[in-house]
Amino acid sequence: MLVSAISLTAQADITVVKADALLDVKTGKLQQKPLLILEDNRIRDIGEQGKLAIPEGAKLLDLSGQTLLPGLMDMHVHITSDAAVHGYKGLAVSLPAETITGVANAKTTLEAGFTTIRNVGASGYSDVALRDAINKGEVPGPRIFASGIPLGITGGHCDNNLLPYEYQDKSPAVADGPWAVREKVRMNIKYGADLIKYCATGGVLSKGTKVGAQQYSQEEMNAIVEEANLRGIHVAAHAHGTEGIKAAIKAGVRSVEHASFLDDEAIKLAKQHGTYLSMDIYNTEYILGEGEKAGILEESLDKERVVGSKQRDSFSRAVKAGVKMVFSTDAGVYPHGDNGKQFSRMVRFGMTPLQAIQAATINAATLLGKEGELGSIETGKFADMIAVPGNPLQDISLLETVPWVIKDGNVAKRP
Ligand SMILES: [Zn+2]
Repeated sequence: MLVSAISLTAQADITVVKADALLDVKTGKLQQKPLLILEDNRIRDIGEQGKLAIPEGAKLLDLSGQTLLPGLMDMHVHITSDAAVHGYKGLAVSLPAETITGVANAKTTLEAGFTTIRNVGASGYSDVALRDAINKGEVPGPRIFASGIPLGITGGHCDNNLLPYEYQDKSPAVADGPWAVREKVRMNIKYGADLIKYCATGGVLSKGTKVGAQQYSQEEMNAIVEEANLRGIHVAAHAHGTEGIKAAIKAGVRSVEHASFLDDEAIKLAKQHGTYLSMDIYNTEYILGEGEKAGILEESLDKERVVGSKQRDSFSRAVKAGVKMVFSTDAGVYPHGDNGKQFSRMVRFGMTPLQAIQAATINAATLLGKEGELGSIETGKFADMIAVPGNPLQDISLLETVPWVIKDGNVAKRP
């Protein structure tokens, strides 16, 4: 017994990391000349170079010239979607093909500095399978919090609306009525979902939906949230239109996705309920620039022309009002790996660089209920971090091309 205990200790994987600076995302303070001791996949100790003793036999990771930040977190991703495949092109993609696309996207996302994502919608349970494969070490990728198949009304944004009636095509998570939606929540949990996503309003990229119109009644939304909460998981609601946003907040969702048409009351409600807004303000540039080539429908481009600028205006007002916000990009609509491009837009539309970084780190971790393990570089937390050559508080664009990525104490990307 004692012998095995000793050999286990001797096998602990110790890495010492030194860098020029470390960003405390909670305070915005830069610690100069930090020295970190990583043990297996956790941060064991943080000190100053020359003061903290280096354990014997430790591996050294010298990141001189770099600033350390916690691994970035994107709270709205479609990891199994391909940005070049929209609209009718998507009908030719099988579930196995989608899953393999997800494997490639997971690596790209991790190498962009995103060590955690929340996946809010995938076919089948491709996102759940990918999460499990990453956790087992079969393929590289970020930590995934997966929703499985999003719930929606018949003909709504989360249904499949491309084919005519005779094909009887329908998303397997379409449900109408309070008990029907509860059954789909239970189905998603049965197949491994970490959270529930549902569509509270129409959307930009779906055929035949009005982006501003509410889908699901208050009663149905209440049932979804109550059922998910009973099972100890949270709910993310896709909502562009004002009334749908308000109904979702009143139902008690953890986050409102997109949140495009905010009025003063919606902002007030979000503050009262502590709801996170999860606003994807970068992808409008991709949709309007590249979307047509990728197969995005003309009606969707028309909707985006209205929604894109409204959403950015809503974002500015929500920031000013002090609503809780997370970094969310809708990657998969635009190419995975470009997630970091949204930081500069968040700053342009009203956040300080620190607020934008907090949205992608400590706020995201708190949304997930994982602030004890993720979201900042602190003793005891997972050793998920990135390093960039400079101070991102002075130059936020440093987060667009991240040279160093560490996940679970292992280097996932080096220059
Ligand atoms: Zn989405």
